[in-house]
Amino acid sequence: MDNCLFCKIAAKQIPATVVYEDDELLAFKDINPAAPVHLLIIPKQHIATLSECDEGHTALLGKMLALAPRLAKEHGVSVVYDAEGTPTRGYKTLINSGPDGGQVVYHMHMHMYGGPRPWKGMH
Ligand code: 5GP
Ligand code: ZN
Repeated sequence: MDNCLFCKIAAKQIPATVVYEDDELLAFKDINPAAPVHLLIIPKQHIATLSECDEGHTALLGKMLALAPRLAKEHGVSVVYDAEGTPTRGYKTLINSGPDGGQVVYHMHMHMYGGPRPWKGMH
């Protein structure tokens, strides 16, 4: 898509700190992090919102979600269990859809937030 910020990042026309790339997906650091670790996972293909997706996108969406635990491990925010078996650390995955969903950039993306709390204005 012409004039789409994240298409331009996917095409390397705008710089970003890329943390993962394959033929279908790109993950990069959010420019204005709301948590110590704040990554964005996008399909390289332009899809404006999650509302453009249906069952035909199951594999792509599954791949986006399945990338989160891998990136969490690589960025030190994976869930780990202490000696008592209590979970520690962890992260949040989030897709904002449309204005009421708080979406600002209309190229579908999944946020991954992690790291020690508190986070800026987030639960
Ligand atoms: P949304 O509110 O659409 O779910 O989130 C858009 C996210 O994109 C925001 O967290 C914002 O900080 C991030 N963002 C906006 N412009 C850029 C940019 O040029 N580069 C990067 N890396 N992130 C961006
Ligand atoms: Zn796009």
